[in-house]
Amino acid sequence: MHKIDIDLVEMTLDVMKYAIGRISAVEDKIGKPKKEEELKALVGETITKDGIGGEYAFKLWRKYLAKANVAIDHPRHLAFVPASPTRAAIMFDLVTSASSIHGAYWMEGAGGIFCENEAMKWIVSLTGLPAGALGVFTSGGTAANLSAMVTAREHWREQEEFKGEKGLIITSIGAHSSIKAMAKVIDVDLLLVETEDRLEGPALQHAIDGLTPHQRKRLFAVVATGGTTNAGIIDDLNGVAQICKKENLWFHVDAAYGGGALVADSVKHLFNGIEHADSITIDPHKWMFSPYDCGAVIYRHPELAKNAHSQEGSYLDIFKDEGAHGFNPTDYQIQLTRRVRGLPLWFSLATHGTDKYKEAVERGIELAQIAGEMIEDMPHVELVRAPSLSCVLYRRVGWKPENYTHWTYENHNKGFALVTPTKWKQGDTFETVSRFCFINPDTTEKDIKMILDTMI
Ligand SMILES: *Cc1c(COP(=O)(O)O)cnc(C)c1O
Repeated sequence: MHKIDIDLVEMTLDVMKYAIGRISAVEDKIGKPKKEEELKALVGETITKDGIGGEYAFKLWRKYLAKANVAIDHPRHLAFVPASPTRAAIMFDLVTSASSIHGAYWMEGAGGIFCENEAMKWIVSLTGLPAGALGVFTSGGTAANLSAMVTAREHWREQEEFKGEKGLIITSIGAHSSIKAMAKVIDVDLLLVETEDRLEGPALQHAIDGLTPHQRKRLFAVVATGGTTNAGIIDDLNGVAQICKKENLWFHVDAAYGGGALVADSVKHLFNGIEHADSITIDPHKWMFSPYDCGAVIYRHPELAKNAHSQEGSYLDIFKDEGAHGFNPTDYQIQLTRRVRGLPLWFSLATHGTDKYKEAVERGIELAQIAGEMIEDMPHVELVRAPSLSCVLYRRVGWKPENYTHWTYENHNKGFALVTPTKWKQGDTFETVSRFCFINPDTTEKDIKMILDTMI
């Protein structure tokens, strides 16, 4: 199974050829899922006692299975938060896989971890956090939020008076679903400030003032959002920071989606106050053009993360020895064994330089503005709110929720576009609306116009 022979060489060439084809392809159709039974009927048994052979398995992949995936980097994939990894980054993802690097400890992965850290220093520099701040790459924003929340909770509960208390975190309803999910994982309660718009200082203060004395005792952190996933809204980070300071609370900024915009001069000021954060989440696999999966968590005081996350075990002692000295990514987030998933980003940054990143992010913001203007000019659609970062919420005049759903499926089934509905809360009502999120700089004005035309 592990031997090198002519079959393996041929197989490798085939796979590489396919990968190169995929990297350089300009997709014209968006893939779509099939039911599990349908896929099974197409490919038959693939896991057998004797194996079906690489050539045949690969044929099944190309012919049937690859097509049942949506290419997230398709220029008319404007749903959720799409992705658009650079070709250099994807190429180096292949190298990362081929290199078998254990990215937990410097002793084993020094070369890869060095590269990750170089890329990370640039990301940290965008946040304006002071010297000493440091970040590590995680599997995504969820894992980054979890790692930060655990660090905050452990730091809080180190104090004698809070030992044994169940924690409480305040955030807003605009926060990402992962904050709620990870609060469950660490068994803390969440108080949601009722605004899908910008969370501002006074509303936060009001929420804190409304707590019972015991709730106040249990409150240890506030999570603000640096670019809500739904609408691209950036909370009043300065206002929230001031209150966190006054109330002695951990200040976490979830900028998983929006963090990439820190590189863009046109919107950077909207993030003022992020430099006061205790921890920040940014997903390079969203707006920093990395392949999946690549998130990042950054700490103002990394030693607190180390206290919370460093794993102990006699089999791990060697890694902590002087002789193995270096930076150990495992100490700062929840994973032990990890892929050096920041390596593709490093290669792409090194290849292109940071100015190209700035241009590509600015293009996403510009596309949102362009889409906003088109929507204003067309009689059948209207803006729900002004575009924010690269998100555009708009409605088709007269449509009911089921019209949006039907329209989404229709465009997807044709392989034309993937644009999905969402809800926008105003007062007490949730309105179903349509949403664009631009990440891919290859999306064109024509793409946007064609999509809007299908709503007529
Ligand atoms: C996408 C997103 C997350 C979750 O990140 P994953 O990489 O999907 O785990 C968290 N917070 C925000 C604001 C996001 O947009």
